[in-house]
Amino acid sequence: MEGAILILKELEKRGFKAYIVGGAVRDKLMGKIPQDVDILTTAPPGVVEEIGKRSQWKVKGVGRAFGVSLLILDGKPYEVAAARKESYGLDSHRPEKVEYTSNIKQDLSRRDFTINSMAMDTKGRILDPFNGRDDLEKGIIRAVGDPQERFREDALRSFRAVRFAAQLGFDIEDRTLAAIKTCRDRIAGLSVERVRDELIKILISTHVSKGLGTLVDTGLAGCICRCTENGVNREVGILPEILHLVDLPQSPRYHTLDGFRHTLAVVQNTPPDITLRTAALLHDIAKGLPGIRTRNKRGELSDPGHHRLGAEMAEDIMKRLKFPQHIARRVVWLVYNHMSLPEPRKKTVIRWLRKRAPQFKSQDEFSEAIRQLLILFRADIGGGMRDPDYSRLEESEVIMLDIIKTIPFYQEELHIKGERVAERLGAGPQVGRFLNSLLERIQSGQLSNTEKDLEDALDRKFYRSKIL
Ligand code: ATP
Ligand code: MG
Repeated sequence: MEGAILILKELEKRGFKAYIVGGAVRDKLMGKIPQDVDILTTAPPGVVEEIGKRSQWKVKGVGRAFGVSLLILDGKPYEVAAARKESYGLDSHRPEKVEYTSNIKQDLSRRDFTINSMAMDTKGRILDPFNGRDDLEKGIIRAVGDPQERFREDALRSFRAVRFAAQLGFDIEDRTLAAIKTCRDRIAGLSVERVRDELIKILISTHVSKGLGTLVDTGLAGCICRCTENGVNREVGILPEILHLVDLPQSPRYHTLDGFRHTLAVVQNTPPDITLRTAALLHDIAKGLPGIRTRNKRGELSDPGHHRLGAEMAEDIMKRLKFPQHIARRVVWLVYNHMSLPEPRKKTVIRWLRKRAPQFKSQDEFSEAIRQLLILFRADIGGGMRDPDYSRLEESEVIMLDIIKTIPFYQEELHIKGERVAERLGAGPQVGRFLNSLLERIQSGQLSNTEKDLEDALDRKFYRSKIL
């Protein structure tokens, strides 16, 4: 905040109005340390930059066209925006016309929610024309002005409303909530990248199940948005696949919750990490679908193979929503394996690990994936299982973590180098083959991963090759 106060003071010295605004004021009033501090001023960007240069601050004119300058003080960036008034047209997100104004209240009135429309001056006095402070105390997300108008102007605000509800645990005020529903047609004009960014923020929120529940209740999950590739627009579904989980019955022998409530509980049970939360959201996505839903011999509901189809669906969903590829790949793996907890026996666990190791490039990746899967197993059991029994998981977990620490699954973990093997056996494919045979022998307990044992094995191999 100190950097921001310095900037405000410099701007005031030159006769401009200047305030800290938006999220930083909201966070400060909630007793949190603001992440990034935005500044609102009546000074035009040119003047802000000149003041910045004269004060020997680092200046970046990144958003000059939008009236925004970036000042960097003590390594911290401050976005300084000229007060503006916006008018909207056909586009679902971008304003049609932006004009500078010297009226601070006018700028605050174009902001999305009352809790985001407060400004604070150098003395800590709050400008709050829309009673954001009241709503902050009551825990309410309320649109500034007429909610219908505000969501029609910019449809991204609908997702932002859900996101703030999920981050802060707040409720969306009734009229605001109703407007999100009636303005759903405008979502079609939003770019998939913007929607994805909000979805990810919702997924890693503290109150994620509230956010996801609201996405479904408002119908936002079932909306389409727009993907533009090579100048061609395509419609892209947001998350229609999760809708069929709502009220989906599950076998009461194992479950106390329907498909969606179970999914929400599993997501909420995982730490706020994008990979884990997405895997949790999608882990049972194929349950109940034709070709999957059936009854077992006892006549109970069952979904054999839902992990396989679920993994395929997860891949499609994350591809079209343009999730980062490395995250998508891991999520697909987690969904595919979420039913595969091995029996807590050393041999079984080694076989289980050996089968999966080749699916990863390195030991680091592999052990990270295993740890994530263990978290998902636990979250799944805690998601409304009738008699949650963690004991088998815990036993397998201890064995699994011990094995991946002590037994090698990758050549890089062997206490003998490829070069050393090549020295004795000659360079060529036999080196890799020999190293793999070492791995197998260590995994089956015939050899230990010590320099001496491996050197001896190499010796034996060397002499055998001489005799043959
Ligand atoms: P965060 O902590 O997530 O950064 P924030 O409130 O700072 O939350 P930003 O997206 O950084 O959110 O936006 C900064 C401020 O700009 C908001 O507080 C709000 O006043 C305004 N704002 C941002 N996006 C919109 C929008 N789509 N419509 C209206 N006002 C917006
Ligand atoms: Mg911000």
